[in-house]
Amino acid sequence: NATLYNDDAYDRIRVLQKEKIIVDHIITDPPFAISQKNNFNTMKNPRKGVYFGDWDNSFDLYTWIGEYEKILDKNGSFIVFCSYRYISFIIEEMESNNLIVKDVIRWNKTNPMPRNINRRYVQDTEFAIWAVKKNAKWVFNKPKDVPYLRTGFDFPVVSGKEKTDHPTQKSLQLMKEIVRIHTKENQLIMDPFMGSGTTGVAALELNRRFIGIEINQDYFEIAKKRIKTT
Ligand code: SAM
Repeated sequence: NATLYNDDAYDRIRVLQKEKIIVDHIITDPPFAISQKNNFNTMKNPRKGVYFGDWDNSFDLYTWIGEYEKILDKNGSFIVFCSYRYISFIIEEMESNNLIVKDVIRWNKTNPMPRNINRRYVQDTEFAIWAVKKNAKWVFNKPKDVPYLRTGFDFPVVSGKEKTDHPTQKSLQLMKEIVRIHTKENQLIMDPFMGSGTTGVAALELNRRFIGIEINQDYFEIAKKRIKTT
């Protein structure tokens, strides 16, 4: 059970608000606004810097949060991936929009891409901020067979058959772990910046429902195909 929109999340939210849609959880990976069109001049073979596309550079990182908070259920979780550079700003935006940050989750990439390795650390971590509303009875499905859950998840970056043409595709294993811990079966999960639809695939494979939005038509087609075959 999935509804997918090829639309701008900033436009679609007005329709969703008008229709009085309420979602149980928002789990999303918005553009990080970190693309750089640089050349690594110090490297022997100059190559293009990290550039995901214009959608990444011009994105308004903050104002969508308050609008989407309005359609989140009172007990819902709001989980947002972000670059380490923006963690404090996103936390501030969330907490000035009726949300309370509970924890910062880490994805520890077990097979990070080695670049510029003699000059800096390998970039092997991504962060996701988890927030809930005041007085929420939030979902936290700690498995019975572990004493506690740690904030770091160790998974490889996508490769092989799983990989699509989306440049920043998240690991399906990672997204399934997050969905399993933070949501219940049959609940409705929204991803306003779904990219290749990984959150949606995770949601459906775990018997949750899904609403996704993606502005780019090529990425939207990838998501549609992945989610349909799930
Ligand atoms: N988690 C996704 C996956 O596993 O494939 C990747 C998400 S990627 C970091 C962010 C996505 O947001 C991009 O695919 C981009 O096209 C999309 N996007 C950018 N601006 C948008 C907007 N205003 N509305 C909807 N989607 C947007």
